[in-house]
Amino acid sequence: MNIIAVQESAPHRKLCTDCGVSRTEDPSRCGYACQFISPDYATLEQQVHGRTRGSAGDIEPFFGVVKEMHQAALKPARQGAQWTGITTRLGEALLERGEVTAVLCVGPDPEDNWRPVPRLITSAADMASCRGMRMGYAPLLELLEPAIAAGHTRLAVIGIPCQIYALRALEAELGLEHLVVIGTPCSDNTTTEHFHEFLSLLDSNPEQINYLEFMPDFHVELRFVGGAKKRIPFLQLPIADLRDDFFPLTCRTCVDYVNTLSDITVGYMGGSGEQWLLVRNQRGQDTLEQIRPELSLKAPSSSGKRASAVKGFIENTRRATGGLPLRKMPQWLRPIVGKIMPLTGPKGLEFARTRLEMKAAESILHLRRAAPKRLRSMIPDHVWKLAAPYGITPDKDEC
Ligand SMILES: Cc1cc2nc3c(=O)[nH]c(=O)nc-3n(C[C@H](O)[C@H](O)[C@H](O)COP(=O)(O)OP(=O)(O)OC[C@H]3O[C@@H](n4cnc5c(N)ncnc54)[C@H](O)[C@@H]3O)c2cc1C
Ligand code: SF4
Ligand code: SF4
Repeated sequence: MNIIAVQESAPHRKLCTDCGVSRTEDPSRCGYACQFISPDYATLEQQVHGRTRGSAGDIEPFFGVVKEMHQAALKPARQGAQWTGITTRLGEALLERGEVTAVLCVGPDPEDNWRPVPRLITSAADMASCRGMRMGYAPLLELLEPAIAAGHTRLAVIGIPCQIYALRALEAELGLEHLVVIGTPCSDNTTTEHFHEFLSLLDSNPEQINYLEFMPDFHVELRFVGGAKKRIPFLQLPIADLRDDFFPLTCRTCVDYVNTLSDITVGYMGGSGEQWLLVRNQRGQDTLEQIRPELSLKAPSSSGKRASAVKGFIENTRRATGGLPLRKMPQWLRPIVGKIMPLTGPKGLEFARTRLEMKAAESILHLRRAAPKRLRSMIPDHVWKLAAPYGITPDKDEC
């Protein structure tokens, strides 16, 4: 079985990424399942990992509960994968071994390769069709009820943080026998429509682009149908030509960059050019063990100092949230997208910490401007702590 969700227009809310809950039988559950209303990470961390994140050192305050961490690559890298394809391989292995009977993830819309569409995959051979990053929002969780109704009570879910928060908030009431959650980090997402505008600024044949990634060597890599590649230095990106609302408020203000409620997180930003695995609990560990012999694993490295990059980013963000139009910004102020880092700077885990602090500051500054009443309920303590060294602390009505 390969269920594909039929998407109609997203429900209209100011802060909603259409994770799918509002499309289920009881949309009122958004009230307690939504990352953008009143998230409670401490309770869910306790529920999922058996403990909350540690408050000392330079790992858990940034990355959440971590049992084991690696720089990693799947050998050989898989065709069509965003990096080497570890995420998809984990889903395949769970299906091959019969640990789950279905994997809920996203794949490409048949009409638009960049648009994510929820898919329920029940055969390992079909997982490959979901490789790669899509830009936009997919109502992933709308397939939970059809999956359970079809008997899939042993389920794996692959998702981005705003989807996984809602999944964890609902988990206890779903009646699943077994759930494995594979998360990826996520930031700077936007609607598929906006993303197509960005592609058309990057190349005269945007419809031929089938891959885009911000690489650690400070280039954006584009790949085209037919195999051609193009690399654009970050500083030459047409960021100043993007519409002011290119990034929706949701993605400017979300608070869980590294998907801390997943059992295992598969990203790249702490991986020094390879992938980055954060195993968070025993379920994540058991899942990794299934493919460990297929991976090259190293201890993650870390170098450089983040403070000046974070300060520069915060200054740019303050100007942008203060209403200075991007297009009038001088060149040196343009890189307000956090992924565009200075050419010299922090690497490995220090790069990941840099991004976490940038994201914390960005979320607070944007909410202060656009929805100040939401600060008190939406910003968790651990996010305030990341922004505090840069003088961003809660006012008395913000905490
Ligand atoms: C919008 C976006 C921004 C990201 N930003 C970062 C970042 O800043 N730092 C970082 O370390 N990692 C980021 N990631 C994760 C990263 O791009 C890779 O997906 C991850 O490293 C896994 O690579 P892989 O080769 O193992 O994945 P693959 O094996 O290629 O599998 C990719 C998986 O991602 C899922 N997926 C793809 N697009 C979406 C989407 N739009 N919504 C939900 N799920 C999706 C698919 O279901 C698929 O299972 C981002 C992902 C997205 C979708
Ligand atoms: S729970 Fe999901 S569907 Fe509901 S408001 Fe939040 S993001 Fe939107
Ligand atoms: S950036 Fe945050 S809010 Fe936007 S899609 Fe990613 S996880 Fe969801």
